[in-house]
Amino acid sequence: MKGLLVRCRAWPRLATRTPQLCRPFLYRCQHCAPGRGQRLVLSGMFQPQNLREDQVLSLEDRPSNLTCKSQRLMLQGGLILPASPGCYHLLPYTVRAMEKLVRVIDQEMQAIGGQKIDMPSLCPAELWRATSRWQLMAKELLRLRDRHGKEYCLGPTHEEAVTALVASQKNLSYKQLPFLLYQVTRKFRDEPRPRFGLLRGREFYMKDMYTFDSSPEAARQTYSLVCDAYCSLFNRLGLRFIKAQADVGSIGGTMSHEFQLPVDIGEDQLVICPSCSFSANKETLDSLQTNCPACQGPLTETKGIEVGHTFYLGTKYSSIFSAQFANAHGELSLAEMGCYGLGVTRILAAALEVLSTEDCIRWPSLLAPYQVCLIPPKKGSKEAAATELVEQLHDHIIERAPQLRGEVVLDDRTHLTIGSRLKDAHKLGYPFVIIAGKRALEVPAHFEVWCQNTGEVVFLTQEGIAELLAQVQVV
Ligand code: ATP
Ligand code: MG
Repeated sequence: MKGLLVRCRAWPRLATRTPQLCRPFLYRCQHCAPGRGQRLVLSGMFQPQNLREDQVLSLEDRPSNLTCKSQRLMLQGGLILPASPGCYHLLPYTVRAMEKLVRVIDQEMQAIGGQKIDMPSLCPAELWRATSRWQLMAKELLRLRDRHGKEYCLGPTHEEAVTALVASQKNLSYKQLPFLLYQVTRKFRDEPRPRFGLLRGREFYMKDMYTFDSSPEAARQTYSLVCDAYCSLFNRLGLRFIKAQADVGSIGGTMSHEFQLPVDIGEDQLVICPSCSFSANKETLDSLQTNCPACQGPLTETKGIEVGHTFYLGTKYSSIFSAQFANAHGELSLAEMGCYGLGVTRILAAALEVLSTEDCIRWPSLLAPYQVCLIPPKKGSKEAAATELVEQLHDHIIERAPQLRGEVVLDDRTHLTIGSRLKDAHKLGYPFVIIAGKRALEVPAHFEVWCQNTGEVVFLTQEGIAELLAQVQVV
């Protein structure tokens, strides 16, 4: 018999001749959602890797120049591919992790009343001239002209755009405020030295929120609300962070904090006080200061990667664009603003930088692109009889832990040994790797379960695995 005629239950009119050869993993109907009968197989994943030196356009990305762990691991794992200096193709595993990160960010922003918008990347020059940033941001702006000669920049940040947007609403009342508007979009900056992969790109994803309040007191409250949401985000990701006082830079305003992940590769120098909670970016402090301005204790230093930045802006932008509202006395008053950035792609790379080992990627559990990797026995091996048990295990997991639908991959490259597939799985950092080894032939079958977070390896039955995985949180 050459093949088996398989009829899809959901789409009975669809009958396919499924070749016997592909049987273990290929009963899948394109029209059904992933689940019973449809399994994600690793052999079909698009994961280009191992570019040769001469194939890489950017010097920074040449294998011999890789100085940064996250960049190296992401290139080796087929998670990103260089396109041009500071610009990367984000490949399927990275996009999955990023989509999860954006979902966590959405939850945190919406929990404090954030409303998601999406503004154009093409930003008209006249808005940027109005704030003088057309000149001030000099070479950092990527500028272009349309066919009518009108000038634009590709948005590096959106204070101008969002303030003009709110200012266009002429009948706002204090009763409608605050507005917390945010977006997750690509940002463009002609960085003098793009490097370290996604850590410093010329095109990258940022979550930027802009807040509009009716008084300075209300705006300060909003400021601390957003800072708290950032703390909650990093805590949920399991990332140790420092909230440091910071310089306001070209964005302007009166108060600012940076959220930093302490790690040696970081480009920011931070001072922290071990005795009280004070910490600051070193550039904000007097160069001679060695004692804590809060408690006078001695300061220590550490390097950090800036993953988030908050600014209290006051009326710096609202006064230029006349973003105003009617106050309780019916008079027009300028909105008090704040702006708050999170480097979405930078957070992904920075998390890998702090969590990974030299050879193996480690994700914050919530962001792992797939939660589980199943490794069936090698073709032709003694254990090959257990292949079907792995299929059954897959379907049982989905049934008992339905949140894992779409989160389980099957490493169907059964021409490879279990050992080499396990090595690959470690490199990619699945939180759970499950192997059908010798004990899969026992009755009942026992599978070897590697739990990345605890470092434990345990032997469990199908039922034990289902119980373990039922606890896994998926965002
Ligand atoms: P840096 O000092 O690292 O250049 P910045 O202070 O210019 O960053 P902000 O304007 O505060 O950056 O942008 C908000 C967030 O966007 C930053 O906290 C960072 O996480 C992210 N970000 C900024 N520049 C880049 C970049 N070139 N590549 C990736 N992420 C970036
Ligand atoms: Mg900053």
